[in-house]
Amino acid sequence: MNMTPPVSRNVSQSGLLKHHLQSVHDALKDDLQGTLPAYIPELAQADVHTFALSITLPDGETVQVGNTAKTFTLQSLSKPFSYLLALQTCGFDAVLQAVGTEPSGDPFNSIRLEDRKSRPDNPMVNAGALVVAQMLLEKHGSSAPSEVQGWFERVLGHPVHLNPQVLQSELQTGHRNRAIVHLMRNLGMVQQDPEEVLTFYLQLCALQVQVKDLSLLGALLAGSGRHPISGQQVVSQEVVRQVLSVMFSCGMYNSAGDWACKVGLPAKSGVSGGLLAVAPGKLGLAVHSPSLNTHGHSHRGVLACQMLAQRLHLHLLDAWNMEGQA
Ligand code: GLN
Repeated sequence: MNMTPPVSRNVSQSGLLKHHLQSVHDALKDDLQGTLPAYIPELAQADVHTFALSITLPDGETVQVGNTAKTFTLQSLSKPFSYLLALQTCGFDAVLQAVGTEPSGDPFNSIRLEDRKSRPDNPMVNAGALVVAQMLLEKHGSSAPSEVQGWFERVLGHPVHLNPQVLQSELQTGHRNRAIVHLMRNLGMVQQDPEEVLTFYLQLCALQVQVKDLSLLGALLAGSGRHPISGQQVVSQEVVRQVLSVMFSCGMYNSAGDWACKVGLPAKSGVSGGLLAVAPGKLGLAVHSPSLNTHGHSHRGVLACQMLAQRLHLHLLDAWNMEGQA
C-alpha cells in the first residue's frame, strides 16, 4: 500500500495535482467497461470515450485534464444542490419533516415506499429528491426552475443551460419516476400535481455543466459554503454540513458502504456519468465518463476517485496530521 505522506503545501500544488490527474487519466483511458443508461435514450447516445477530471481548491484554483470542454447534464448531481436550496429557503424543520436522512440500501430509483411511513428515506434517491423538488415548487411557484438555474449561474459565474432533448427524453420514458411520484401522491408524501413535480425534478436533472463547474461546486462545499472565487459565504456552514452528511451516508446509494471504505469522501453521482467527491477543507473532485457500473455510477469515475483518494490521502478517516505524518 502507498503510505507516502499527503501532498505537501510547499510543493507547487497545482503542478502536483495535474500530475496525479494526468496519471490517473492515462491509467484508465482505455477502460471502456460499463454501459450507457438505456432508459434515457438521449443519454444512451453519449460518447463512451469521453473522460475528463477536474479538481478545484477552496481558493478557486482549478486543475483539469481530458475532454474538459464537453458538457453533460447534472442528473442526480442536482440532488445535493436542490437539497441545499430547500434547506436554505424552507428551513431545516420543514425539510427534515418531509425527507429523512437514513441510507436506504436501495438503488436510486427504488419504488419501495409503502413501508416508509410518511417520508422518503433520504434526498439522494429519486423519491426524496422529488419531495425536495415539491418543496421548492411550493416556495417559488412557477419561477422555481429559474430560481434554481439562477443560483447555479451565480455560483458558477456563467449561463447554465437546460438540455431540452434530455428533458424530453426523460419526460417520455420516465415511467418509473412517474410511478414513484404518483405512489407518493397516493401515500400523502406529495400533495401537489405529480406531473408538475416530476417535470420540475427532471428540469433540474437536465441542467448542463462542464467538469470544472462540478469541481467548483465541490470546492464550495469543501470550503464550508465560502465561494472559491469571490470568497463570499454563499451557503451557511450548517447547511453545507447537512448536505455533506447525506452525501456521505446516502450519496452512493446501495454502494455507499463500499465507497466509504475505498474512497471515504462525501460524494454524488449522476447517470450522465458525472461524479463529484468532496474533501472538506481540501478540494472538490469531479469526473465525467459516461459508461456506468451496475449501481448507476460512472465506472471510470469510481476507479478514478479511488485512485486519487489514495494518492492524495483524502480518506476522511485517515488520521494524517497537518505535517502529513501518520
Ligand atoms: N434523471 C435521472 C432519473 O431520475 C437521475 C438518476 C441518476 O442520475 N441517478 O432517473
